[in-house]
Amino acid sequence: MSIREVLQIGHPILAARAAEVDIGKIKTAEVQGWIDDMIDTMRHANGAGIAANQIGIPYRLFVIEVGDNPRYPYKPNIPLTVVINPEIRFLTDETFVSNEGCLSVPQMRGNVDRHVEIAVTYYDREGNKQAHEISGYSACTWQHEYDHLDGILFPHRVKDAQSFCSWQVFQDFQQQDYAKHVRQLVEVWGS
Ligand code: ZN
Repeated sequence: MSIREVLQIGHPILAARAAEVDIGKIKTAEVQGWIDDMIDTMRHANGAGIAANQIGIPYRLFVIEVGDNPRYPYKPNIPLTVVINPEIRFLTDETFVSNEGCLSVPQMRGNVDRHVEIAVTYYDREGNKQAHEISGYSACTWQHEYDHLDGILFPHRVKDAQSFCSWQVFQDFQQQDYAKHVRQLVEVWGS
Protein backbone atom coordinates (compact mmCIF):
# COMPACT_ATOMS: atom_id res chain seq x y z
CA MET A 1 0.00 0.00 0.00
CA SER A 2 1.33 3.38 -0.84
CA ILE A 3 0.45 6.94 -1.65
CA ARG A 4 1.09 7.55 -5.33
CA GLU A 5 1.67 10.63 -7.41
CA VAL A 6 -1.54 12.01 -8.93
CA LEU A 7 -1.12 12.72 -12.65
CA GLN A 8 -2.16 16.17 -13.79
CA ILE A 9 -4.41 17.33 -16.63
CA GLY A 10 -2.80 16.93 -20.03
CA HIS A 11 -0.84 13.80 -19.07
CA PRO A 12 -1.27 11.23 -21.88
CA ILE A 13 -2.42 8.44 -19.53
CA LEU A 14 -5.19 10.69 -18.19
CA ALA A 15 -6.24 11.72 -21.67
CA ALA A 16 -6.58 8.18 -23.07
CA ARG A 17 -9.45 5.73 -22.76
CA ALA A 18 -8.56 3.20 -20.06
CA ALA A 19 -8.74 -0.54 -20.81
CA GLU A 20 -11.14 -3.07 -19.26
CA VAL A 21 -9.82 -5.01 -16.29
CA ASP A 22 -9.60 -8.77 -16.93
CA ILE A 23 -12.34 -9.96 -14.55
CA GLY A 24 -10.43 -13.17 -13.86
CA LYS A 25 -7.57 -11.10 -12.46
CA ILE A 26 -9.54 -9.00 -9.94
CA LYS A 27 -8.39 -11.11 -7.00
CA THR A 28 -4.71 -11.09 -7.98
CA ALA A 29 -2.21 -9.27 -5.78
CA GLU A 30 -1.56 -6.87 -8.65
CA VAL A 31 -5.13 -5.61 -9.02
CA GLN A 32 -5.74 -5.66 -5.25
CA GLY A 33 -2.55 -3.62 -4.84
CA TRP A 34 -3.80 -1.05 -7.36
CA ILE A 35 -7.03 -0.74 -5.37
CA ASP A 36 -5.17 -0.30 -2.08
CA ASP A 37 -2.96 2.40 -3.61
CA MET A 38 -6.00 4.19 -5.04
CA ILE A 39 -7.69 4.21 -1.63
CA ASP A 40 -4.53 5.42 0.14
CA THR A 41 -3.91 8.15 -2.42
CA MET A 42 -7.55 9.32 -2.41
CA ARG A 43 -7.65 9.51 1.38
CA HIS A 44 -4.27 11.23 1.62
CA ALA A 45 -5.41 13.93 -0.82
CA ASN A 46 -8.92 14.25 0.72
CA GLY A 47 -10.40 13.30 -2.65
CA ALA A 48 -14.02 12.15 -2.96
CA GLY A 49 -12.88 9.57 -5.48
CA ILE A 50 -9.96 8.62 -7.66
CA ALA A 51 -9.69 6.75 -10.92
CA ALA A 52 -6.86 4.31 -11.60
CA ASN A 53 -5.50 6.33 -14.50
CA GLN A 54 -5.04 9.31 -12.16
CA ILE A 55 -2.24 7.31 -10.52
CA GLY A 56 -0.90 6.01 -13.82
CA ILE A 57 -2.78 2.69 -14.03
CA PRO A 58 -4.53 2.70 -17.42
CA TYR A 59 -7.46 0.42 -16.48
CA ARG A 60 -11.17 0.92 -15.91
CA LEU A 61 -11.61 1.12 -12.16
CA PHE A 62 -12.17 3.81 -9.59
CA VAL A 63 -12.86 4.20 -5.90
CA ILE A 64 -15.29 6.59 -4.23
CA GLU A 65 -15.58 7.56 -0.58
CA VAL A 66 -17.05 10.63 1.07
CA GLY A 67 -16.91 11.04 4.83
CA ASP A 68 -16.57 14.39 6.55
CA ASN A 69 -14.49 15.85 3.75
CA PRO A 70 -12.78 19.25 4.22
CA ARG A 71 -12.47 19.65 0.43
CA TYR A 72 -16.20 19.09 -0.09
CA PRO A 73 -18.02 19.90 3.18
CA TYR A 74 -21.47 19.92 1.48
CA LYS A 75 -21.21 16.41 -0.01
CA PRO A 76 -23.45 13.69 1.41
CA ASN A 77 -21.54 10.65 2.67
CA ILE A 78 -20.72 7.76 0.38
CA PRO A 79 -19.23 4.59 1.91
CA LEU A 80 -15.99 3.30 0.38
CA THR A 81 -16.93 1.73 -2.95
CA VAL A 82 -14.56 -0.03 -5.35
CA VAL A 83 -15.85 0.06 -8.92
CA ILE A 84 -14.36 -2.11 -11.69
CA ASN A 85 -15.41 -2.06 -15.38
CA PRO A 86 -18.43 0.17 -14.71
CA GLU A 87 -21.29 0.90 -17.06
CA ILE A 88 -23.50 3.92 -16.44
CA ARG A 89 -26.98 4.52 -17.86
CA PHE A 90 -28.92 7.76 -17.45
CA LEU A 91 -32.42 7.00 -16.17
CA THR A 92 -33.95 10.42 -16.87
CA ASP A 93 -33.03 13.64 -18.65
CA GLU A 94 -32.96 15.62 -15.40
CA THR A 95 -29.62 17.29 -14.75
CA PHE A 96 -28.02 19.28 -11.93
CA VAL A 97 -25.39 22.01 -12.16
CA SER A 98 -22.49 20.43 -10.29
CA ASN A 99 -19.54 22.56 -9.27
CA GLU A 100 -16.54 20.25 -9.40
CA GLY A 101 -12.89 20.07 -8.61
CA CYS A 102 -10.43 17.29 -9.35
CA LEU A 103 -7.15 16.06 -7.88
CA SER A 104 -5.76 16.17 -11.43
CA VAL A 105 -6.84 19.80 -11.99
CA PRO A 106 -5.03 21.87 -9.39
CA GLN A 107 -6.50 25.18 -8.23
CA MET A 108 -9.52 25.10 -10.49
CA ARG A 109 -13.23 24.43 -10.13
CA GLY A 110 -16.09 24.78 -12.61
CA ASN A 111 -19.73 23.99 -13.36
CA VAL A 112 -20.73 20.79 -15.14
CA ASP A 113 -24.20 19.38 -15.91
CA ARG A 114 -24.68 15.93 -14.38
CA HIS A 115 -27.61 13.54 -14.49
CA VAL A 116 -29.38 13.06 -11.16
CA GLU A 117 -30.66 9.50 -11.68
CA ILE A 118 -28.33 6.83 -13.02
CA ALA A 119 -28.10 3.06 -13.08
CA VAL A 120 -24.66 1.54 -12.62
CA THR A 121 -23.27 -1.94 -13.05
CA TYR A 122 -19.75 -2.90 -12.09
CA TYR A 123 -17.62 -5.55 -10.39
CA ASP A 124 -16.54 -5.04 -6.79
CA ARG A 125 -13.07 -5.95 -5.46
CA GLU A 126 -14.24 -9.49 -4.65
CA GLY A 127 -15.19 -9.92 -8.30
CA ASN A 128 -18.94 -9.85 -7.63
CA LYS A 129 -21.19 -8.16 -10.16
CA GLN A 130 -23.13 -5.23 -8.70
CA ALA A 131 -26.10 -3.30 -10.06
CA HIS A 132 -27.47 -0.20 -8.36
CA GLU A 133 -29.50 2.91 -9.01
CA ILE A 134 -27.85 6.07 -7.72
CA SER A 135 -29.64 9.36 -7.40
CA GLY A 136 -29.05 12.88 -6.18
CA TYR A 137 -25.70 14.49 -5.59
CA SER A 138 -23.81 11.21 -5.26
CA ALA A 139 -24.66 10.48 -8.90
CA CYS A 140 -22.49 13.48 -9.87
CA THR A 141 -19.46 11.94 -8.17
CA TRP A 142 -20.01 8.66 -10.02
CA GLN A 143 -20.20 10.43 -13.38
CA HIS A 144 -17.05 12.46 -12.63
CA GLU A 145 -15.05 9.31 -11.86
CA TYR A 146 -16.52 7.39 -14.78
CA ASP A 147 -15.51 10.19 -17.15
CA HIS A 148 -11.88 9.73 -16.11
CA LEU A 149 -11.95 6.23 -17.59
CA ASP A 150 -12.79 7.74 -20.98
CA GLY A 151 -10.08 10.38 -20.70
CA ILE A 152 -12.58 13.13 -19.88
CA LEU A 153 -11.83 15.63 -17.10
CA PHE A 154 -14.43 18.06 -15.74
CA PRO A 155 -12.99 21.13 -17.58
CA HIS A 156 -13.77 19.35 -20.88
CA ARG A 157 -17.46 19.41 -19.90
CA VAL A 158 -17.64 22.99 -18.62
CA LYS A 159 -19.95 24.91 -20.97
CA ASP A 160 -19.84 28.25 -19.15
CA ALA A 161 -16.19 29.23 -19.03
CA GLN A 162 -17.15 32.05 -16.65
CA SER A 163 -17.78 29.39 -14.02
CA PHE A 164 -14.09 28.52 -13.72
CA CYS A 165 -12.76 29.75 -10.40
CA SER A 166 -10.06 29.01 -7.87
CA TRP A 167 -10.77 26.97 -4.74
CA GLN A 168 -10.16 30.04 -2.58
CA VAL A 169 -12.57 32.20 -4.58
CA PHE A 170 -15.15 29.41 -4.46
CA GLN A 171 -14.83 29.20 -0.69
CA ASP A 172 -14.97 32.97 -0.20
CA PHE A 173 -17.77 33.84 -2.63
CA GLN A 174 -19.72 30.80 -3.82
CA GLN A 175 -19.62 27.92 -1.36
CA GLN A 176 -22.49 29.13 0.83
CA ASP A 177 -24.95 29.43 -2.07
CA TYR A 178 -23.68 26.23 -3.64
CA ALA A 179 -24.15 24.29 -0.39
CA LYS A 180 -27.81 25.46 -0.42
CA HIS A 181 -28.19 24.33 -4.05
CA VAL A 182 -26.79 20.90 -3.07
CA ARG A 183 -28.98 20.63 0.06
CA GLN A 184 -32.09 21.20 -2.07
CA LEU A 185 -31.09 18.28 -4.30
CA VAL A 186 -30.24 16.05 -1.34
CA GLU A 187 -33.58 16.84 0.30
CA VAL A 188 -35.37 15.52 -2.78
CA TRP A 189 -33.25 12.42 -3.31
CA GLY A 190 -31.87 11.61 0.14
CA SER A 191 -28.31 11.31 -1.16
ZN1 ZN B 1 -11.25 13.90 -11.03
